[in-house]
Amino acid sequence: MLIGKDVTVIGGGIGGLAAALACARHGAVVTVLERAEAIREVGAGLQISPNGWVVLQALGLDAEVAANATRGQAVRLRDFRRGTEVFSMPLRDPFHFVHRADLIDTLHDAALGAGVKIRLGVQVTEVEARAHEVQLTLADGTQEVHGLTIAADGLHSAGRAHLNPRSKPFFTGQVAWRALVPTSAALAPEAHVFMGPGRHLVRYPLRGGALTNIVAVEERDAWAPEDWMLTDDPRNLRAAFIDFCPEIKTLLDDVERPNLWGLCRHPVAAQWVNGPLALLGDAAHPTLPFLAQGANLALEDAWVLAECLAGIPDTGEALHTYQSARKSRSARIVEAANENATNYHLRPGPYRFAAHTALRAAARVAPHAVTNRFNWIYQHDVTG
Ligand code: FAD
Repeated sequence: MLIGKDVTVIGGGIGGLAAALACARHGAVVTVLERAEAIREVGAGLQISPNGWVVLQALGLDAEVAANATRGQAVRLRDFRRGTEVFSMPLRDPFHFVHRADLIDTLHDAALGAGVKIRLGVQVTEVEARAHEVQLTLADGTQEVHGLTIAADGLHSAGRAHLNPRSKPFFTGQVAWRALVPTSAALAPEAHVFMGPGRHLVRYPLRGGALTNIVAVEERDAWAPEDWMLTDDPRNLRAAFIDFCPEIKTLLDDVERPNLWGLCRHPVAAQWVNGPLALLGDAAHPTLPFLAQGANLALEDAWVLAECLAGIPDTGEALHTYQSARKSRSARIVEAANENATNYHLRPGPYRFAAHTALRAAARVAPHAVTNRFNWIYQHDVTG
């Protein structure tokens, strides 16, 4: 039960704020510990698919998020050099292209409105779960003891490190740039994926078409840090995509300060809960961006965790029920995203030709067949 219960959430990102809000709505007294000095988000886009959208609906935030979002209608796969379409598939409605800052602002305002307290500039460096409490060590050396604690502290989670000390990521041999540019000509409400040998670039409109979101992925040997706040020289991005079609060259000319990060594979955490501690979102299951599901999974986690805690009187049992409900689905999506990475990067030759020919044929014969392959992801409704 959550009424009157103290809940501490480490991390004020999408997963942490959604969990804080969902718990507060069930009557919990929630405090978020966020290392940043302000709740803010980087300039980047997110694709919120129907499975994440139902959580926003259940939290009553869908209208506000939709007001600034673009309703995505299709994904088009295009040849990198000629720009010609290889395949397109309709997106399962409701699918939205959302600016991360808009989603965070909405979650933040709603959390404050529900009475959530947010402590900024608080970095948790160590987490230790005991039978009935969780000890947190902060960056200034102080120690605090909390009750029910949700570690939603992202990729490099201190909570995950405590529960899964031997779990290590490895570099995938891929780096990604992301950037936002002002849109000069109106774009259709679609995601376009330009597929080249060892590289692909995704672009889609944001904020009603005022901005274009770019994610560009390149296979390379040289490692780059797994920190997506690092900026890179835009000339490196332009050079990597120099042989792409003129539309992409023009788009990249407008990029001023791209961010670059190294893509790593992390195993899904083996252990998500212990005592009154639970992992949530990227802390439990970081995923490569090739299915655009990380934030959607974090929203699903937040809803399920709050429902388990509200409905099951014993906290330990509630947390184990949450882990059972979430672990295999998250693992399946993480694995599907891993596999998707190489599909876009086929080198010119017979295999690429055959794959593209098969896609074109599928588009003619059964355009919804490929969309339907993802029903298990998009039609999953944790609020139902
Ligand atoms: P985060 O968003 O990482 O939030 C963690 C929070 O915890 C942050 O506020 C951080 O400051 C704070 N924090 C971290 N450590 C500490 C600490 N020690 N103490 C206190 N606070 C701490 N997902 C989608 O669903 N759709 C997409 O289209 C999509 N596109 C993506 C594109 C890119 C380029 C990238 C990199 C990711 C994308 N994702 C997408 C994934 C998605 O962004 C993440 O999965 C999602 O943000 C995870 O949310 P989270 O709350 O678990 O973690």
